Amino acid sequence: MCTDCHLSRERNKTVPGEGPENAEVMLIGEAPGSNEDKQGRPFVGAAGRVLQEFLDLGKLRREDVYITNTVKCRPPNNRDPLTVELIACRKYLDRQIEAISPKVLVTLGRHALTSFLPNETISKARGIPRSVNGRTLFPIYHPAAALYKQNIRKVIEEDIMKLPALIEELSFFKKEVSYPADVEPETGEQLSVD
Ligand code: URA
Repeated sequence: MCTDCHLSRERNKTVPGEGPENAEVMLIGEAPGSNEDKQGRPFVGAAGRVLQEFLDLGKLRREDVYITNTVKCRPPNNRDPLTVELIACRKYLDRQIEAISPKVLVTLGRHALTSFLPNETISKARGIPRSVNGRTLFPIYHPAAALYKQNIRKVIEEDIMKLPALIEELSFFKKEVSYPADVEPETGEQLSVD
């Protein structure tokens, strides 16, 4: 069991994430809260209920997406994750992204966004897909913000409704550049002269 940062001292359960290994969409939240810490599953409390509303609008089923967080253990009193904790936990997120290789990474809120793009602000970056290290990132506000800010709810709704078209566009692009099984792509390797 991981003890790479101090969050391990107070956690009840680790919350690694859940979803199918071939998920096209990975949702990356901030950190587990108290319900998540009790159950070992992400987004099961009030934030999970509001997340479900947005998934419905984005025509996504919870069981089809992979859901995880920037840190896998609950910060005490739901404080923001510290940089040292984000760094210690990053390897797990990187491995999840590598293993699942989703078409799109949807970051939820500012912490998840800045863990990929440290100089961005969520208010400017939200709703605009962009390429980061060869992956498509689609930042949106954190669903929990919709619980107390009606104007943010509207913005999340607007952004999440762009997801189906984005996924289709990314699928189309992937098909366009894939090669038939019997055709080898040019590798650019030099012929041996031995
Ligand atoms: N629950 C989670 O798993 N992550 C969040 O960011 C908020 C609630």
